[in-house]
Amino acid sequence: MPKTYSGGCQCGNVRYEVQFDLNEVNACNCSRCRRLGSLFVFAPAESFTLLKGEDALTDYTFNKHAIHHLFCATCGIQSFARGTAPDGKKMVAINARCLEDVDIDALPVHKVDGRSH
Ligand SMILES: [Zn+2]
Repeated sequence: MPKTYSGGCQCGNVRYEVQFDLNEVNACNCSRCRRLGSLFVFAPAESFTLLKGEDALTDYTFNKHAIHHLFCATCGIQSFARGTAPDGKKMVAINARCLEDVDIDALPVHKVDGRSH
């Protein structure tokens, strides 16, 4: 059953809610994720509500520029990203480390080989 989670950046300028099943998190070894140490979970864009902070976000893209890595211009935390799936569906990638009331160490970590793509 999908649950509603709250999350956001460190300083509180960026806040969101997202509904999903949180059974595992993804760790990616691409040039960005390995530096950030983020553990992310994908959700359809319609399951995601940005409560505040659209104008607080700085957009960063690299490689194919398919994913918008959005970080808070004040505290620097990237709490989510926006992208488009190969089938054209709008997606968000939630940094599960930025969710409240989640025991992140209790979740299995699925390794994603982002470096070779
Ligand atoms: Zn912030």
